[in-house]
Amino acid sequence: MKILVGLKGPGLSELRHSGVKIESLAGSLELSSKSTNATYPGAIINVHPQGDEIIVESPGNPGEHRVYKDELKVETRSGNIKLLLYSGNRQVHSGQYSGRLLLKVDGGKLLVLLESDLEVYVRGVLRSEVPASYHIEAMKAQAVLARTYALRPRIDHSVDGFNVCDSFTCCQAFNGVDPALTAGQKAVIEETKGKVLTYDGKPALALFSANAGGHTEDYSNCFSNLKTNKFPDDPLPYLKGIPEGKLPHGFPSEAALRQLWALPKPETVDAWSATFRWQAHFTADTLEGHMHHVIETLRKEAQFAPFIVAPESQKFGHIQGFEVTRRGVSGVAMELAIRTSTGTWTIAKELTIRSVFGNPDMKLKRLRSGRIFFDQQKDKLGMLSAVTVFGLGFGHGVGLQQNGAQGLALQGMPFDKILSRYYPGTVLSTVH
Ligand SMILES: [Zn+2]
Repeated sequence: MKILVGLKGPGLSELRHSGVKIESLAGSLELSSKSTNATYPGAIINVHPQGDEIIVESPGNPGEHRVYKDELKVETRSGNIKLLLYSGNRQVHSGQYSGRLLLKVDGGKLLVLLESDLEVYVRGVLRSEVPASYHIEAMKAQAVLARTYALRPRIDHSVDGFNVCDSFTCCQAFNGVDPALTAGQKAVIEETKGKVLTYDGKPALALFSANAGGHTEDYSNCFSNLKTNKFPDDPLPYLKGIPEGKLPHGFPSEAALRQLWALPKPETVDAWSATFRWQAHFTADTLEGHMHHVIETLRKEAQFAPFIVAPESQKFGHIQGFEVTRRGVSGVAMELAIRTSTGTWTIAKELTIRSVFGNPDMKLKRLRSGRIFFDQQKDKLGMLSAVTVFGLGFGHGVGLQQNGAQGLALQGMPFDKILSRYYPGTVLSTVH
């Protein structure tokens, strides 16, 4: 089965580029479009958009160029291609891929798509998403998810004409081919070949995260509706929070979260990992210095703006304190009140809440998870002097958690059982 991957560069958000340099790793490049079909006399080309057209130049023949008026296909006989993506004159990504490239001009910029065999794509995801040292059953579960996610990502990319993108902040991490795949990883791909998770006969939304900190979360408590921004979104029957071991009485109250965090040896399948718990210490100065700017920036982004509600004053005053005012079944913060001298700001949804703590001084993009509670210190005058954020887990905690899957595999659970535990009601099906 072939899929189309939109290449942004992992971790990047821009889908349209100012140019791309393509290099064949064996033999010459073959270029074709509806109107032309030619082997290119060279192994390297530079491609950029001009108006509605695609311009192809060869570094070996300066001054000479070809013009393509419609979608351009670029491939090599070996299938192995190296490419560099450009934004303006800046190189933003470099990677090695296997498959055929499709280039299109869209809005004056270049869309770079990779037509890849699904199994080859899964190889690229596997090495990006889980360490090769993982138990084979945990890796198999991840391979099934990688395949499933490619067929049904949360963001519908069909409007841009492809299945899935390569960004871990949007879809799942995909870094292209890896010639150094271990024997174990190869066996994982082979033994799960074509296997996907389905629900009601369609690919399931196979969300996963790194570490759930003792309890996974309901889909609806972490995600908003993509069309209407409704939060919480409508529930998905197979994405329900589950306990991952023995949890303190009263869970998920804040008191129970504190207790779990402080346990010397929590009895959960994910507590072996260093990402099970964390803390971040902020001085009042660094919070005052950055939080209002970060919030201002987030309010300009469509994915965050609806989830940040300003007080009547519209001003972000001196920070007086933080309070989680709504939590999900895992204790994830669904709503955070930031009390300031000019009124209370209300922040909804875990990704927004994590992001408002982004802090350039601390080189922090966002908090590791939304399963948080605070220790807030005040000075003699009653002003906030420092805040420590304590957290459990890493990522949103919905669906399979990689550290939990590893813990279960080490206890002897096979991959199909791991999958039906994290996605109850789904069926393991095969695509060809
Ligand atoms: Zn995407």
